Order: sequence, then C-alpha cells, then structure tokens
Amino acid sequence: MTSDLVHHGESFDGTPLGFATKSIHLGNGVDAETGAIRRPITLANAYALPYDPSDINWSSSDVNLYTRNGHPNQRYLEAKLANLEGTEDAVVLASGVAALAATFTTLLNRGDHAIFSDTTYIAAYRLLNQILPEKYGIETSIVDTSDPKNIADAIRPNTKLVHIETPANPTLKVTDIEAAAKLAHGAGALLSVDNTFNSPFNVRPIDLGADIVIESLTKYINGHGDALGGAIATRKELTDQIRFTYQVNYGGIISPFNAWLINRGSVTLPLRMRQHNASALAIAKHLESLPQVRFVAYPGLESHPHHEVAVRQLARPDAGFGGVLAFGLDTDHDGHNRFVSKLNVITSAVSLGHDESLIVFLGEDDERQYLYPEEFHRGFFRLAVGLEDTDDLIRDIDHALAAAL
Ligand SMILES: *Cc1c(COP(=O)(O)O)cnc(C)c1O
Repeated sequence: MTSDLVHHGESFDGTPLGFATKSIHLGNGVDAETGAIRRPITLANAYALPYDPSDINWSSSDVNLYTRNGHPNQRYLEAKLANLEGTEDAVVLASGVAALAATFTTLLNRGDHAIFSDTTYIAAYRLLNQILPEKYGIETSIVDTSDPKNIADAIRPNTKLVHIETPANPTLKVTDIEAAAKLAHGAGALLSVDNTFNSPFNVRPIDLGADIVIESLTKYINGHGDALGGAIATRKELTDQIRFTYQVNYGGIISPFNAWLINRGSVTLPLRMRQHNASALAIAKHLESLPQVRFVAYPGLESHPHHEVAVRQLARPDAGFGGVLAFGLDTDHDGHNRFVSKLNVITSAVSLGHDESLIVFLGEDDERQYLYPEEFHRGFFRLAVGLEDTDDLIRDIDHALAAAL
C-alpha cells in the first residue's frame, strides 16, 4: 500500500524516490470508501456544507465546496506535478493556454512590463504581444531570448516577468534558463518557463533558477492525445493568487475527468520520454543525411546552435532532447503536400506528445514568420515523433520522400 512517506516522494529511510516511482505512486492512494487501490473520478459539482456554513470563504480553494474552487482529482494531479517539478505547489487548469493566461493575468498589472521569447506558443504570443497590452495596459518586449544579452537589454525599471519557452514551438530555439533567471532576478522580476517540449523528465527549470514552470499537460504529461490540461508549478504564495484570480474568478478549472485521465497518462511519462528522446534523435540524424532535406532543427544535434546549452540543462543522465523536431524540404508548395499525402504511419495533424507521430506544415503564412530564423521562411514541417518503432517511422519518411519529390 502506498504510504504517506511515498506521497512526499521519499522512501522509508528518507532517500528521495526516483522519477519513475514517483510518477506511479504520487497522487494515487486507497479510496477510503471502497478500498479500491485506484482513486475514483469524483464528478460532483458541489460538496456537503457543514452545519454552520457562515464562516466559509466562498472563494476558497482549500476545501471541497464547489468544483470550480478545486476538486479531488485536480488536487491529486497537482500533488504529483509539484513534486516532479520540484516546487512547493502546482495548479492544474483546463489547458496549457489557460495556464499561460493565468500566469500572465495574475502576475502582471497595468503599467507592468514583461519580456518574452520571440518564438512561443501562438497564444502566448497573442496574449503578450496584443491582448494584454491593448486591453490591460501591460507593456511587453519580444526578444530573441536564446541570446541572454537581449534579455538584459530589454529590462526596464517596471519589468516584472520574463517568460521564455524552451525549446520553442516551432523553431526549437533553446534559451539558457540559468542565465535568464539571473537576469530576471537581478531586475527584481520573476522567470516563467514553458517547459512543455521537455517535460520535467528532461529538464527541471526550477533547479536552474526559474520561479514558475508551465506545462501543457495535453502533450507529454498526458501522452495519449485524449485530454487537454495545463499546469503552473511554483511557490504556494503564487499558486494561491492564481487559484483566486484565474481558477475561481476567470473559471479556468480543469474537469475532474480530464484530471483523472492526465493523472493516469502521467504514470508512464519516464518510459515514454526515453522513447520519444531516442527516436527523435535517430530521426533527426537520419533527416540530416538526406539530400532532399534543407535543414533540421533539433537540440540534440551537434549542428543545433544551442546544443551545448541544451546538454547542460538536462535534468538527469538518462534525459534527452524531447520528441519534436523541425525540418525543411527542398521543394515547392505542392511538394510539401505531396510528401504528407504519401505518409502512411505518421499522421497529418497538429499537437505533439501523443503516442502517435504527428506532422504539420507551417511557416508559409504564419503571422510570426518575420521572427523565425531565415531557413524557416520557405515553410517547414514540425514533426512530433511518437512511440512507434523508429525503423517504421524512418521507412515511412523515406518512402514518402521517394514517392513525392
Ligand atoms: C500546446 C502548447 C501549449 C498550449 O497547450 P494547450 O493544452 O493546447 O492549451 C503551450 N505551450 C506549448 C509549448 C505547447 O506546445
């Protein structure tokens, strides 16, 4: 039976448990009513009030009251994620974008300034580049954070947040988290890191000095492509504010069913990440050797401009560089479509971190094209390498290239 010690990530003699053991046991427990060794899904919207409810804080997230204030399946997943990320607490919300929006809207006030990476998830770009400045009077600067000097140059007296995404979606640019944290802290600002492409198995931003880690749980942490969720892992002082602002009052709560699914998917995170890492590296190397391929961007390749930083950031000896890579083909608009149409194993769809490999053609009409490195301007593929046999994926790519180009 999972003991209380295990729930704190420790074994009987106080030794910290490994990542795999914690991925399995944290957040699980015996159901008090039935003795089931899997926690149930609790779908109720509301919970019984005490005899005298007059002392209840109706915005509280700490007691079972109303599902938007917080619910058991959310809390089990939060306990696991906080431990895996190495933070005091975590908040689990409806999607990765909800986690990004929660962080920005909770921590930034009118007149504050934020610096953010020039490649980020598109919603982060729109929130920070347009929506928050226009609607809420927040100042923002978009910079290439892969060179820390650009962060230093953008700092203003009112800078409150530096937000980086690394590796960045979809260019795979890597930012030095340690250097970004030092610069943010020197300016009295917080550093938030979108760690979705790495997951806490590959990189733990908190250990490198970050204050806030954001994960789209939709991707690797769930891993099965069947539920949306997002997490913010940080200090309790900040999660309390995020729960009050974004969860209770903006309504960004995750559903109990999705929290349960993600908790179940996360059990195999370390096994899956090892396979994603190994397979993506093999495919990146293979693509690099092909004459039809113009360029390959993958932090695990020695040709990647930030390869050394990526290596330095790895959380453990068995970590890797994630499952996503970008590449360009030497062909025209229709050649790209022909290539995708000839793939049999790899599916043409957005998203990443699923069991199945997914490919999407990007860049030709992306509103952020001006921010991408030169080689991305003619259009490129983002390939999210799944868990299929690596040889099958390589054969699928080779066959489609031969048939299409
Ligand atoms: C997908 C993604 C998000 C958004 O997550 P959703 O769960 O789709 O809202 C945020 N950041 C990165 C890096 C992503 O890949």
